[in-house]
Amino acid sequence: MERFARDMASNLFGNPHSASASSQRSTARIEDIRLRVLRFFNADPAEFDLVFVANATAGIKLVADALRASPDGFDYGYHQASHTSLVGVREEARNSLCLDNPQVEAWLAGRCPFQDNSEGRPVLFAYPAQSNMDGRRYPLSWAERLRCGSRRTYTLLDAAALVCSSPLDLSRADAAPDFTVLSFYKIFGFPDLGALLVRREAEDVFESRRYFGGGTVDMVVCLKEQWHAPKRQFLHERLEDGTLPIHNIIALDAALDVHKQLFGSMRDIAAHTSFLLRRLYRGLQSLRHGNGEPVCALYSAHADGTEMSAASGPVIAFNIRNSLGAWVSLTEVEKLAVLKGFHIRTGGVCNPGGIASALGLEPWEMKQNFSSGFRCGTENDIMAGKPTGVIRVSLGAMSTISDVDSFVNFVAEFYRDVSPASRMSKPMPQPQSTPRLYVHSISIYPIKSCGSFQIPPDVDWEVRPEGLAWDREWCLVHQGTGQALNQKRHPKMALIRPRLDFERGELRVRFAGEVPAHLPQEVSIPLSKNPSLFHSPVARSRTSRVCGEEVEVRTYSLSEINGFFSDVLGVPCLLARFPPGGQGKSMRHSKAHLQKHQVSLPHPSRGSLLPGSFPPSPPDSDTERVVSRRILLSNESPILAITLPSVDALNQDIQAAQADSARKVSPAVFRANIVIGPDPGHPEGLPPYAEDSWSGVRIGRQQHGFEMLGACRRCHMVCIDQETAEKSEEPFVTLSKTRRFDGKVFFGVHMCYHNSVADQGGGPGLTAEAQFPTVRVGDVVVPEWRREE
Ligand SMILES: *Cc1c(COP(=O)(O)O)cnc(C)c1O
Repeated sequence: MERFARDMASNLFGNPHSASASSQRSTARIEDIRLRVLRFFNADPAEFDLVFVANATAGIKLVADALRASPDGFDYGYHQASHTSLVGVREEARNSLCLDNPQVEAWLAGRCPFQDNSEGRPVLFAYPAQSNMDGRRYPLSWAERLRCGSRRTYTLLDAAALVCSSPLDLSRADAAPDFTVLSFYKIFGFPDLGALLVRREAEDVFESRRYFGGGTVDMVVCLKEQWHAPKRQFLHERLEDGTLPIHNIIALDAALDVHKQLFGSMRDIAAHTSFLLRRLYRGLQSLRHGNGEPVCALYSAHADGTEMSAASGPVIAFNIRNSLGAWVSLTEVEKLAVLKGFHIRTGGVCNPGGIASALGLEPWEMKQNFSSGFRCGTENDIMAGKPTGVIRVSLGAMSTISDVDSFVNFVAEFYRDVSPASRMSKPMPQPQSTPRLYVHSISIYPIKSCGSFQIPPDVDWEVRPEGLAWDREWCLVHQGTGQALNQKRHPKMALIRPRLDFERGELRVRFAGEVPAHLPQEVSIPLSKNPSLFHSPVARSRTSRVCGEEVEVRTYSLSEINGFFSDVLGVPCLLARFPPGGQGKSMRHSKAHLQKHQVSLPHPSRGSLLPGSFPPSPPDSDTERVVSRRILLSNESPILAITLPSVDALNQDIQAAQADSARKVSPAVFRANIVIGPDPGHPEGLPPYAEDSWSGVRIGRQQHGFEMLGACRRCHMVCIDQETAEKSEEPFVTLSKTRRFDGKVFFGVHMCYHNSVADQGGGPGLTAEAQFPTVRVGDVVVPEWRREE
């Protein structure tokens, strides 16, 4: 970056195609760099041309565009390990086939898979030089062997993954692929640029391309006649539509220099990364649970480790299983990896064929998963007992031995059950010894994901079916996408502190961080729902998204309000309201349900409970039961409760794990509505995590009934200190070891208002208290324990 900055600061680069000195300078530099890149791949400029494109995908599209325009279209065969960007080409082809290795071999042996191909129609075969999913490499010799056949057959090599850590040698033009695509940012990190390398022998394919852009033609006639003369001398002149990304190309010069200085040749990098790959592979492969079962299911084929460098790039795709063989959720692994500073990728990694064959997913299974709600990037990544993606670890020139070792240690630390007996979860609390419990504190979060408002001790606070009054009734939505902002992405939201001021009828909001000088210290939002406060629903009726769900919110129109939030967060956003009582998309439902670990109590004969491996599941009908209950903008349920003994137990676990006196986490990180504690006089009585086994609680003198809806699944948002908005590893890291069930991490319970004793029938009729249920700090809490069937 420094070298590039020096270049930029000392030279003026103009748009090519004019006579000015700055323009000429750009043109000259670009031609030099074009040559330099060709040489980087040992490609003779007499045999190859290089077309600058945005990325590998744009190079693929240029080839597909040209072939589609040939008179009879084209037939397309692509290897099963192809990246999504290669797969998409099939939509442009007359006929297309996805081929595995034996089918490719048959083709190379002379049996073209496209039988009724009329003589003229060209055939394109595309494959990756290295799979982006598992690092497997495919022979460069395929191009030469395919060319020996009689038909007009072209090969497209996707070298995007290969060239990151390996030399690509195109010195034998007659053996090289016709088209080779790659992305430079994958080799150098910067600039964002790609290339299409074309064997000059295959240039004729582009004769059929119809579109022409600025810079690609010598003359265009428009008025009475439609005629144009494409540039003829070089292919790249005809294909580089519009102004080139001049500065990106110039940055490539610096990238090539610095990369060589730091890492030596691509051959050196290949040796370095394949050494690391072997170490990583052996490390992961040798991890065993206490019962001898492997921790990792590895999909990359490095069976004996000897021929690894040739057969495979420095990429490992795998999944993790617990000691009982159940799959660990990818998103959970990713959450922890994020906290531990590893940059890995999980999921389908843009390689549909590779994933399907590694995981044994049939097309009907993938479609079924799609219908049951699976999407790229969702949390539900284990479906019907199979993972839907992989964990992918890639190594590069900059990776070190210590990176590899710490990753293997990370997997061991969090996912290996060393000895089944030693890491037993604490037994489920038993009902006999319930002490007196009381409401320790009540919090609401008027603006979703922002700071809390503590209910003062002497105030009765209304409970509604959707939750505590005024909880999550507002949110901030991004001005562009309409997406509700959350703390996970914008930790500073914790510093937005709302306060309900009923005297003035306002929600008053201050920012506890540094407030820009031009802003007021505080902004007030009327509690009134007066329509004049909002953008008119007709003009701005737009849906927003909250937790992935489409909802209709009313956005405020006052620029003082929206400006305040946008400026303190540094994100262009609007304040929006989602009042109770809406219909259609102005209404949401709870998603909370009982989790398996809450339903099955440990049974002596089942042995111990291991993290991530909770015992046999209860009948599905129980766990999947989701009752339709309305909520406002909370993530999952009307009310979230935690207990102080659970927080204490967690803090003890955190301190036990870290010899020095680690900082305790505050109950505030869990953003609960109701914190329940034992009677201060008898603190010993309530066991930690008792709340998991409650079916409900009764609160206060009116004995308002609340139903427990299920445990609350957690993500690394609990690592944001609600006071300072700073992120750390805890408590998620410790929770992952002590509170992981079925690969998911839980803390706290969802609940909702149910009824009060007075309206259970038999009484004189509906009482005022039952009509207007409230809770207050200090109220007695009486749990009801779930009975075992
Ligand atoms: C990354 C990658 C691509 C896509 O590259 P873009 O830069 O996103 O166009 C295609 N194929 C493989 C093998 C890749 O690794």
